[in-house]
Amino acid sequence: ERERLSRLRHTPAVTRDGQRIELLANIEMPDDTRAALKVGAVGVGLFRSEFLFMGRHGVLPDEEEQYQAYRAAVEGMQGLPVTIRTVDVGADKPFDEVRHDEAHLNPALGLRAIRWSLSEPAMFLTQLRAILRAAAHGPVNLLIPMLAHLGEIRQTQVLLAQARAQLERAGTPHGWVRVGAMIEVPAAALIVDRFAQGFDFLSIGTNDLIQYTLAIDRADETVAHLYDPLHPAVLRLIAATLDAGTRHGKPVSLCGEMAGDPALTRLLLGLGLRSFSMHPAQILAVKQEVLRADAARLRDWALAVIADDEPAAMLAASA
Ligand code: PEP
Ligand code: MG
Repeated sequence: ERERLSRLRHTPAVTRDGQRIELLANIEMPDDTRAALKVGAVGVGLFRSEFLFMGRHGVLPDEEEQYQAYRAAVEGMQGLPVTIRTVDVGADKPFDEVRHDEAHLNPALGLRAIRWSLSEPAMFLTQLRAILRAAAHGPVNLLIPMLAHLGEIRQTQVLLAQARAQLERAGTPHGWVRVGAMIEVPAAALIVDRFAQGFDFLSIGTNDLIQYTLAIDRADETVAHLYDPLHPAVLRLIAATLDAGTRHGKPVSLCGEMAGDPALTRLLLGLGLRSFSMHPAQILAVKQEVLRADAARLRDWALAVIADDEPAAMLAASA
């Protein structure tokens, strides 16, 4: 089976009705680009930059170290686009020593991701400069995690402009980036039109979207059986985000675990998803589903699935 799948590596991911589907890799370290290319990923859809920040006993990577890491990922992808997400520490990705003294009652609802970045503007500017500098070496997209408040759009834009101005003043080479919003908090999904207007693209983070929609801690084993990607509420938020992308002409990707589950590929295609980002190990299995699918014909079925009380049963029935 593995050998059969590996023959799909160079096959373009196109559905039977001719829809071109983007299959991207999620990476945690610059070196992971090798695994991404090996399975034929057409880019990196999520570089979780927090892995550069973790396990360092609170010593943050400086601009040069970050620049070298982002540049290595960009060069590693040999001209294919790399989406770098700004640091998303907190909750399931604790930042060890730092802020340990301020141990939060509920880290998943605490000062994490963009909230932390905006509360530490010097740190955030350092990261933004490093990413803009890496963009001089190839196509880079910048992705902002955990947005919930409209004010965070403006604050992010102001800091990004400031980072760019600093590089310009210093005469440091840098490149242009497209800026995207992660949709992974229900509040953002419910007013997704505003995020679609404020950003160049959207990326659905289903791992957190499920956690926050269903009030299930994604790391808590005792409620793991209730962590349901096929809950109708979750599916409707995903569908609403895809529809907003279409309305505003903004590309939408999905980079949570759902993107890498071949049992969900047809449903997501039917809902209109055309860009999937996943662990490299899943890419060929998902590609196989894409090659078998007729996206246009899946549309009505997918809409019926998300309107049903038991989407999982409908999915199983059609497998
Ligand atoms: C997500 O939340 O779906 C996601 C892709 O980000 P992470 O798993 O890093 O929170
Ligand atoms: Mg997330």
